[in-house]
Amino acid sequence: MKADLFDQRRLLELQAVDTTLTQLAQRRRKLDADPAFATASQRLRALGDKAANLTGDIADLDRDIDRVEREVDLVKKRAANDRDRMASGAGAKELEGLQSELESLARRQASLEDDELELMERREALDTELTETRRQLGEAERVLADAEADRARLLAEIEAETADAASTRQALAINIPDRLVELYERIHAKQPIAAAELVGRRCGSCRIEKSPADMIPIKSAPIDEVLRCEECGCVLIRTELPSTAPRTLASEDELKKYE
Ligand SMILES: [Zn+2]
Repeated sequence: MKADLFDQRRLLELQAVDTTLTQLAQRRRKLDADPAFATASQRLRALGDKAANLTGDIADLDRDIDRVEREVDLVKKRAANDRDRMASGAGAKELEGLQSELESLARRQASLEDDELELMERREALDTELTETRRQLGEAERVLADAEADRARLLAEIEAETADAASTRQALAINIPDRLVELYERIHAKQPIAAAELVGRRCGSCRIEKSPADMIPIKSAPIDEVLRCEECGCVLIRTELPSTAPRTLASEDELKKYE
């Protein structure tokens, strides 16, 4: 295939944009696979479960404490009744019975109050744990929100850069002869580097150095001959040869001079 060397060199610009697009796609994949987001979500879920369990345990303890308190009230009421009965002039035998019951009620009350104290201590410990868990939960929520914000920011950056590169690519491709672009696209569909500079004897894509013998046909090839690297198949661009057009292809003004 023949194509102006100047046009061939524009393939290098197309390749540079495609390399950028490949890198952007890689960044996108890396971002999707970033464990920070999953780790933060997982921690948030675990802490949420822990807080729910603690809240449940505290509710259970509160019910137990209520039950013990009601029992204490009953014991106290019964003792008060007994004392009223004693004060209202019971017989000696009845007094003895009441006295014994009061002693037993006092023991029962002391035992219930011990139980209550123990339950309240446990409740206090769980309360402290719940407060700490809620603090950690708040922190985990902030970490997750930060991770989400970071991810959204990076994603927006990648999308904007991708859109830029895609429009640059379109503008570049329009200015390269169709069959040259078609050749490039065919190669690019198979490998990431479809066009590379020949630097000295080395292919800029596969980095393999050509032998002096291999260089003979390359050196003697007409300037508008489209060369391919025999090793990797990419279009090999001779940037060290003088061409009819400037080597730097960046400036549109410069390009116009040669149109
Ligand atoms: Zn090569």
